[in-house]
Amino acid sequence: MNEILKGIPASSGIVIGPVYIVGRDDFEVSRRAVSEGDVVSEIVRFEESLIQTRQELIALQRKIAQEFDQEQAQIFDAHLLVLEDRMLIEEVISRVKREKCNVDFIFQEVLKKYVNVFSRMEDEYLRERIADINDVGKRVLRILSGKKKRALSDFEEKVIVVAHDLSPSDTAAMHRKNILGFITDIGGKTSHTAIMAKSFEIPAVVGVEVATSKITAGDTIIIDGGAGIIVINPDAKTIANYKEAEDEILAKAKAFFSLKELLAETRDGRRVELVANIELPEEIPFLLDHGAEGIGLYRSEYFYMNRKDLPSEEEHYEAYKLVAEMMKPYPVIIRTLDLGGDKFISQLQVPRDMVPFLGWRAIRFCLARPDIFKVQLRAILRASVHGKLKIMYPMISGVEEMRQANRVLEEVKEELRTKGVPFDKNMEIGAMIEVPSAAVTADLIAKEADFFSIGTNDLIQYSLAVDRTNEKVAYLYEPAHPAVLRLIKKIIDDAHRNKIWVGMCGEMSGDPMFTLVLLGMGLDEFSMPSKMILQIKQLVRSVTMKQAQAITEEALTFSTAREVEKFSKKKLKELVPQVYDSL
Ligand code: PEP
Ligand code: MG
Repeated sequence: MNEILKGIPASSGIVIGPVYIVGRDDFEVSRRAVSEGDVVSEIVRFEESLIQTRQELIALQRKIAQEFDQEQAQIFDAHLLVLEDRMLIEEVISRVKREKCNVDFIFQEVLKKYVNVFSRMEDEYLRERIADINDVGKRVLRILSGKKKRALSDFEEKVIVVAHDLSPSDTAAMHRKNILGFITDIGGKTSHTAIMAKSFEIPAVVGVEVATSKITAGDTIIIDGGAGIIVINPDAKTIANYKEAEDEILAKAKAFFSLKELLAETRDGRRVELVANIELPEEIPFLLDHGAEGIGLYRSEYFYMNRKDLPSEEEHYEAYKLVAEMMKPYPVIIRTLDLGGDKFISQLQVPRDMVPFLGWRAIRFCLARPDIFKVQLRAILRASVHGKLKIMYPMISGVEEMRQANRVLEEVKEELRTKGVPFDKNMEIGAMIEVPSAAVTADLIAKEADFFSIGTNDLIQYSLAVDRTNEKVAYLYEPAHPAVLRLIKKIIDDAHRNKIWVGMCGEMSGDPMFTLVLLGMGLDEFSMPSKMILQIKQLVRSVTMKQAQAITEEALTFSTAREVEKFSKKKLKELVPQVYDSL
């Protein structure tokens, strides 16, 4: 009764419910000896699993060909070839005979060997086959294990999902379904899974490490997302206490709604923009309800997830048109495809990088694949006549990439002009500043951009060399680190010296702990999960610019993140106790 686990708070709120355990996707099968007499049945089991996988793949391929087109369906040809690889099949069968152990284990071993060999190949095409081998391998192993994969959008009853890990696309599938909350063994505060949980207001705790080993099917648990606490099989008294705490949290959040129609301005009249980050257009009614005056970051890559093909230009266009119209007259900043890092898009068949966050991702990928990039740019430009759209490029690392991206954009504009297709000629084009080299050369990039948006989630991970998704180094992921504060100040100053505006769309902009410091630095726009907008508005409205500037000045004198945090907390308590109390 009442066993407590602690993890990293990812999304606040309290929920109580039964658990649903998600099995690991990459099965680790252990070796099990089989008797001489059972060797044949192991081989039969293997052959049947290959036949079943083949049937599943062909059915999937047919469905894709009907719903989309033949070309997309051909992706599965490579998967089918893996299933027919005689060398692989014979190696598995002969090892089962020789080693007399379970076929799942041998199959897994042989797959690993193949992946190893392919990953060392010079030929890029062959290296890319690793994704096919892994995909097919997982299917076969799942069939061998007798497990069924349940889609996270399928639940008929309300559950709390407990998983080793959830990909951002898994989390996207949870949207508005019967999922009360989730817990994962791994992950950090700004991993995209955590970010999605906040957007959907699903309480979540990540990086719990032992969640899947301590929690079992049939358990009831409480998640306190704000505190990062999980209670397993709580007693009646604990449940009653948490229900009371939940009511209190809801009442406090409700109190901020009185600010909805008020301006986001300081006591001496400095206006800032408080806008929202979204992953899916379905979030729009929700962000308007929280008083957002626009979208400062539309993570367009979610549009590419949970599907087997690439979206067509028409689909992109319809989606952006809808968002532009729904948000009119407010601005919407569409961040162009930011694939990579912890956001993996299966249909692109991109090989996984050894160090994904430093690899072939975001603008690097788009510049290498103008065919894919141009489809998106064309659709955004066409949709720009339906509202106020802006474009920003992710992961810009220097002036050259900014220029290259703008050249591609110019080509697309020229094509549209030739065809007489209208678009907003004054659309603003911005750069995300999230790579340290871009921060250091922000004065140069500012000359090529209409605005900046500071992506602190990545800026922190790159400047402090801390993987944002790794719970083991989460203690080093410090937004208040003096290095981060100095970089942010430099970016804002460089933008203003070059007469462009600057916003922030990393999670730091929705953290009340930093609002006054950022306000004092002169940040023009704060883009955050909608849920935080009204609290941040309360903070902005509670001070004068002079007070905020004094806070910034003092914050920059400290040598450690802990000192900065202590100081920020003190100021928050002193100046805006209602927000301090709501945290
Ligand atoms: C960031 O890096 O701060 C950001 C907003 O982008 P993402 O979290 O999608 O990488
Ligand atoms: Mg980023």
